[in-house]
Amino acid sequence: PAQPLYSDVAIVGAGPVGLFAVFECGMLRMRCQVIDPLDVIGGQCAALYPEKPIFDIPGYPRIGAGELIERLREQAAPFEPGYHLGQSVVGLERRDEGWRLTTSKGRVIQAKAVIIAAGAGAFGPNRPPLADLEHYEGRSVFYAVTQPESLRGKRVVIAGGGDSALDWSILLADIAEKVYVIHRRAKFRGAPESVARLHALAEAGKVELVVPCQLHRLEGDTAAGQLSAVVARDLDGQERRLDADTLLPFFGLSMNLGPIAEWGLALHKGQVAVDPTTCETSLPGVFAIGDIADYPRKLKLILTGFAEAASAAHAIHPLVHPDEELHWEYSTTKGVPGL
Ligand code: FAD
Repeated sequence: PAQPLYSDVAIVGAGPVGLFAVFECGMLRMRCQVIDPLDVIGGQCAALYPEKPIFDIPGYPRIGAGELIERLREQAAPFEPGYHLGQSVVGLERRDEGWRLTTSKGRVIQAKAVIIAAGAGAFGPNRPPLADLEHYEGRSVFYAVTQPESLRGKRVVIAGGGDSALDWSILLADIAEKVYVIHRRAKFRGAPESVARLHALAEAGKVELVVPCQLHRLEGDTAAGQLSAVVARDLDGQERRLDADTLLPFFGLSMNLGPIAEWGLALHKGQVAVDPTTCETSLPGVFAIGDIADYPRKLKLILTGFAEAASAAHAIHPLVHPDEELHWEYSTTKGVPGL
């Protein structure tokens, strides 16, 4: 078996909330190891909306999600966290008065306390139930757009009625040769401003709304993974064949706790139940913060997660430094290494 890496605190998930927990623990002299299956830090902010501005981070009237992550990385850096990316935590067991974590790459971390900051868990896109879909995924069917320019001159079908479908329809109207928007209702449910813009683009002939309709079938070359058409069907079973090069289904994210569901934690509606005063879970020494943590009237916002990181760090301090009384000070009195 691999030699364990010893740490004060192990943080499961490198989203914005896990990153801020490194800072809060660091201020209380606790070193952290952070594990995340993605290849980059930043969780949803980095993976789903790096370019989107955020307006509700205190002190920043407006900050790009990607920039927020860069600032959080910088804020955590003086405390020298260990990052273990490209691997998820698969196992958690009580061991030697602490907890032993095992990652999907076989790394073993022994920590005095654990902070689960795993957001939506092993999050992934909701996939439409279409035959042969897997042959086209990643080649002509995509669940996120990282390079809009790659769709220049293409015939694109966008499916969905929420904010992602609206935002990309509006953006791609100027880039793609043709944009079809399929939604199973006539009414879209995104931000009212975006809905109005989409209807204006439809009236100007820049996008074509195919509503109310559902995705029905894909046509194309499965071996090459290249779509040639998307067939939609309306509520009466009437089919409509749309010539297309690319399909972008935006049906939201599925929350899936993945291995976390097997660790014996008390759960509530698919999330980890915590005591809101400390963020401790039903397992002693295991805490949960951010989107994954649940208690009555929980707000799933980055700012809530930041406050939970502070509560958890203070609750963990006696586990890591049992002989030390915590004389709490403001960050200004105490200072941050290197600043
Ligand atoms: P996440 O960001 O979900 O990060 C969790 C990390 O844990 C992920 O990187 C994941 O890979 C990792 N993980 C999962 N399972 C494991 C495992 N077993 N082992 C190791 N790692 C694991 N919030 C705002 O406050 N303001 C906004 O304007 C705003 N806009 C948003 C716009 C969009 C389009 C979306 C989708 C969300 C928005 N949010 C906004 C919500 C915000 O992104 C979340 O509240 C925030 O990302 C939660 O942070 P987190 O660190 O708890 O979780």
